[in-house]
Amino acid sequence: MLRNDLEQMQDGTEDSGARSEGMTESAIEDLFTALRWPDGPTCPDCGGREVYRLNVASVRRRRYKCRRCRRQFSNTKGTILEGSKLSLGDWVKVARLVCCRPERVGVTHIQHDLGVSYKTAQNAADRLCYALRRPPLRDLVGNTNPLTPTACRDQPDPEGATFRGITWEQLLQALLHTLPPTADPGSATRPPTSS
Ligand SMILES: [Zn+2]
Repeated sequence: MLRNDLEQMQDGTEDSGARSEGMTESAIEDLFTALRWPDGPTCPDCGGREVYRLNVASVRRRRYKCRRCRRQFSNTKGTILEGSKLSLGDWVKVARLVCCRPERVGVTHIQHDLGVSYKTAQNAADRLCYALRRPPLRDLVGNTNPLTPTACRDQPDPEGATFRGITWEQLLQALLHTLPPTADPGSATRPPTSS
C-alpha cells in the first residue's frame, strides 16, 4: 500500500521544473536513467537487465517493466529520491542551486527557487542531508555541507563549506545511488518522510 501511495505521489508531480530548465520532461527522464544506469536500465528488485519501457498515457513519470519479475519501476525507485513530491526537473534545480550557489543553501532558497511550500522544500533538504552522510556522496564531498545548519535540522553541523569541484550531474548521480532508509538497515536516523 505504501509503495502504491509513493508511486501515485510521484505520478502527480509537476513538470514545470523540467521545462524551466530548458529540457523536456523526456530529456530529463533520459538524464536520470543514464546517471543511474550508464549501461542501461536494470530492475531494482531482481537485478534483471531485460526491461522495457511502458507506454502509459495516464502516468506522468516514465515507467519500465522487468521481464523476469514482471515488476514496474521508475528511474528513482529504490533511491533516496523515491516518493519525493518534487519533479525530476525540480531536482535538477536543487542540484544546481546546491552546487553553484556561492553561499550555503537554506530551505527558503529551495522554496523560492522552486516555487514550492516550505514543507516540501524541507523534505528535499532532509533527503540531501541524509545522502550527505552516506556513500557515495560522502566519499565525493567529504565533510563539507552546502546546506545551512537550519536546513539540516536534526544533524550535527559539519564544516560548513559549500561544494567545490563537483557538478550538479555528479550530485544527482550520487543521490540516485543513495539507498533510502527503508533499504538501509544500518540507518539509525529518522527517515525523510514524504511531505
Ligand atoms: Zn525484476
